Amino acid sequence: MSRPRPQEVTCTQCGNTESVTVWDSLSAVDNPKEKDQLIDGSLFTYKCSNCGSVGVLNYAMLFMDDERHMMVYYCPDASEISNVEDMLTKIEETMSEVGVEYRCRIVTSLNSLREKAAICDDDLDDRAVEVAKAVFKAYAGASDELAGHKVTSIYYSGLDDDGNLILYLILDSGVTQDGTIPLAFYEKIEDQCVLGPHKVDDSFFVDEGWAEDWIDSSGVFKE
Ligand SMILES: [Zn+2]
Repeated sequence: MSRPRPQEVTCTQCGNTESVTVWDSLSAVDNPKEKDQLIDGSLFTYKCSNCGSVGVLNYAMLFMDDERHMMVYYCPDASEISNVEDMLTKIEETMSEVGVEYRCRIVTSLNSLREKAAICDDDLDDRAVEVAKAVFKAYAGASDELAGHKVTSIYYSGLDDDGNLILYLILDSGVTQDGTIPLAFYEKIEDQCVLGPHKVDDSFFVDEGWAEDWIDSSGVFKE
């Protein structure tokens, strides 16, 4: 269930104060338009009605997709993480009692929230995407295309017309560029890490560190 509420914000450019809508929780099923805005990032900006400058809105929120059974909590405050873990554990237990299993995640950056929502929206599994990204990063380091630069961050950004995964890379030079993971490679990883034989237990934190641990423990890419 979506829970929007009004929030007073003050423009950093002109000092104008006005009310904007923030979302304590956002349901992809109930609010598809706002779900798209979450993915493209515009849900977290507003335009000052006085001077027209664009301000950033940064707030904790729970994103949920009740069709794909996924929940992602964006927690900008590290001191709140253990409370969020307790809350999600209770939600998982309650859902489990009625026979519904949710994938529940906690992220600590807005970009990660947007990425998880995009992965969910495209019917992909975030565990397989993280493993594919980690493998891509390891190989990209040896690629001429990056001209000696390292990849600092990789985000999933969508599917191309052939269903391949498009990545958004941020390099240590600050330059950004796109990368691609072939759909067949993603599906191979999904078979391995989500469906078995190296099936993994779920975790609230499915990120780069989680993917590296899975690669180490499965030994899949060791040969
Ligand atoms: Zn203003």
